[in-house]
Amino acid sequence: DPTPNNLEAFWMPFTWNRGFKKDPMLLAEAQDMHYTTTEGKKVLDGTAGLWCCNAGHGRRKIVEAVQATVAKLDYAPSFQVSHPLPFELASRMTNMLSGDYDHVFFCNSGSEAVDSALKIALAYHRVRGDAARTRLIGRERGYHGTGFGGISVGGIVKNRMFWGPLINGVDHLPHTFNLEKQAYSKGQPEWGAHLADELERIVTLHDASTIAAVIVEPVAGSTGVLLPPKGYLKRLREICDKHGILLIFDEVITGFGRLGSSFATEHFDVQPDLITCAKGLTNGTIPMGGVICRKGIYDAFMDWADNTGNTIELFHGYTYTAHPVAAAAALATLDVYKEEGLFERAAELAPYWEDAVHGLKGTRHVIDLRNIGLIAGIELESRPGKPGARAYEAFRKAFDAGVMIRTTGDIIALSPPLIIEKSHIDQIFETIRTILTDLD
Ligand code: PMP
Repeated sequence: DPTPNNLEAFWMPFTWNRGFKKDPMLLAEAQDMHYTTTEGKKVLDGTAGLWCCNAGHGRRKIVEAVQATVAKLDYAPSFQVSHPLPFELASRMTNMLSGDYDHVFFCNSGSEAVDSALKIALAYHRVRGDAARTRLIGRERGYHGTGFGGISVGGIVKNRMFWGPLINGVDHLPHTFNLEKQAYSKGQPEWGAHLADELERIVTLHDASTIAAVIVEPVAGSTGVLLPPKGYLKRLREICDKHGILLIFDEVITGFGRLGSSFATEHFDVQPDLITCAKGLTNGTIPMGGVICRKGIYDAFMDWADNTGNTIELFHGYTYTAHPVAAAAALATLDVYKEEGLFERAAELAPYWEDAVHGLKGTRHVIDLRNIGLIAGIELESRPGKPGARAYEAFRKAFDAGVMIRTTGDIIALSPPLIIEKSHIDQIFETIRTILTDLD
């Protein structure tokens, strides 16, 4: 039987989660801003789980909706039939956006949302007679999950090399972030739009008529909280419009209040054709993802299906698409966000958060500080020959000191629940400062 000393015999963990071999960190309970471990230790959640529990933990309304729904309608096969909840949910999600969005495809995770969005983009061109548009464009240091679609368009080179060959015909825009230029500056770097012009170069190389879609995270999260330079996203939109290329924003992290607005799309005032989301959609409770589609995309499929007498049936969907329990969790989550004004709260707290982030300037090992909304990236100088080791040690020590942080390479990433209090913010940054000061 599992004991704290032999856990490795039982579970196949993430490659990154090997720490449990020596010293397992096992969570037993969660409420509001805190986790409690199996040993009874309280840990302040500085990362909203994995960027997902935006309303904090153990929220009664969500728990009750899940319990009531699983008792009433535990499953409905969306391949043949459906149930009322996803219609209401889709309507509420599209109403959270000022752009012209009218349909949502539901799935079970961010990776599935990305794969689905890429397939919707390819199918959209194909049903409109533009079948040559098959090329996809991602961005260096983009993260789009771990499906084959996501790692193909993703900008993590070692992932592509290890699991390749992947999807054919993918290019990557250069990264929007230049360390020397952004170091310690608050807000988005100024030198924006010309970087997006790299898209024109790719278009020239391959011919616009072969390119289906561009996918970017509005703010790259998992690779270290990298802000787009000013004007970058708008210019991408213009170039896509000029060439008939679809623009996809992967909002798996930035959706549902993280930047102080419903979606990053609203924050940056740029409307993509497809928006992927997951995580905050159900406050991290029940797995669910979605692809929000701009008006006209769904209609293209329907026109094609109704009018062309085609014999090919487009097939895409999952056993758990629009699962009743997930949809109920999502509806209750959206209620909590709204009733408690959590997106506005994130916007109000953002300046305090920014001061706290930049208060770390001059702290030992820190070489850059980045923030937007309630996200922060604290970049540390790597230990010579041991990339990631210093940040991982900081993570372990912070956990011991009662604060959950996250690390990606040598960057500490923070993304607390939006219910965070100023005193919690102080605690997070004081803990990080103390740990870094004492760390080799
Ligand atoms: N896209 C982005 C932008 C993400 O941050 C993530 C997860 N961190 C994913 C996709 C993948 O989501 P999941 O882990 O739910 O598959």
